[in-house]
Amino acid sequence: MGILDGKTILVAGVTMDSSIGFATAKVAQEQGATVLISNFGRALGITRRIAKRLPETPAVLELDVTDDDHLAGLADQVREHAGADAHLDGVVHSIAYGNPETLLGGKFLGGPWSDVAQALQVSAYSLKSLTMAAKPLMPEGGSVVGLTFDATVSWPAYDWMGVAKAALESTSRYLARELGAEGIRVNLVSAGPLKTLAAKAIPGFEDLEALWSTRAPLGWDNTDHAPTAKAVCALLSDLFPATTGEIVHVDGGFHATGA
Ligand code: NAP
Repeated sequence: MGILDGKTILVAGVTMDSSIGFATAKVAQEQGATVLISNFGRALGITRRIAKRLPETPAVLELDVTDDDHLAGLADQVREHAGADAHLDGVVHSIAYGNPETLLGGKFLGGPWSDVAQALQVSAYSLKSLTMAAKPLMPEGGSVVGLTFDATVSWPAYDWMGVAKAALESTSRYLARELGAEGIRVNLVSAGPLKTLAAKAIPGFEDLEALWSTRAPLGWDNTDHAPTAKAVCALLSDLFPATTGEIVHVDGGFHATGA
């Protein structure tokens, strides 16, 4: 018996097997879910190859969260792969982008609006876009889970992505407010630093990783995505029926320490 038995889950944002989305798809399958994954653009071919490394090869959908046509066609794509009466019990938003050349790694004061706008659209607004695109297929009891990096404080190097995460965290609370009446929960997992493509693209991200190694009470393995993936799956399951608008920290306890 798995905690996601009988559920269909879309994990959006899987490129490599180092993606948090990949680890989430794996745990979701192990917990009994039927999983679909998505990515966009040139990396779609990589995603299709990587998908074969999951316990069961999932359907791979094309979804650029900034493309209105892709969003409008999402429900049909899911039906194509999961059947005419398909439902989506859970949606995982594992997506972020900020131009590393202009916005990250000590570029805060120079960040141009056009790039900031793109970062906000891809990393925060898209939680709303993706949720609304999936909503026609979501039954009462549905769950949306996104990934953040604690945006209550500023960090070295994280710069405009930190601002985008603050917007994501607020978007999640407003979605929770709007969708609660329909029985749909919206929550985030706030993960500590993990070695992924997105993290590698941030110049100076290793300084954050070093902080975790000394301050996290439980310790922190930045190559182990399983604790984060398990928390996402717990929030997707029926084990958190009265939790929404919440941010669950999976950071070895770092957020609770002052020094
Ligand atoms: P990742 O493997 O690079 O995943 C990010 C995904 O976002 C990629 O699949 C990327 O696709 C996709 N993406 C970018 N723009 C998109 C768009 N317009 N439409 C659809 N998908 C798009 O890195 P990750 O670390 O697993 O990131 C997953 C989530 O976890 C992000 O929200 C990230 O901020 C968050 N997070 C990461 C850490 C960490 O330390 N790694 C910590 C806390 C939270 P392409 O690869 O094709 O660009």
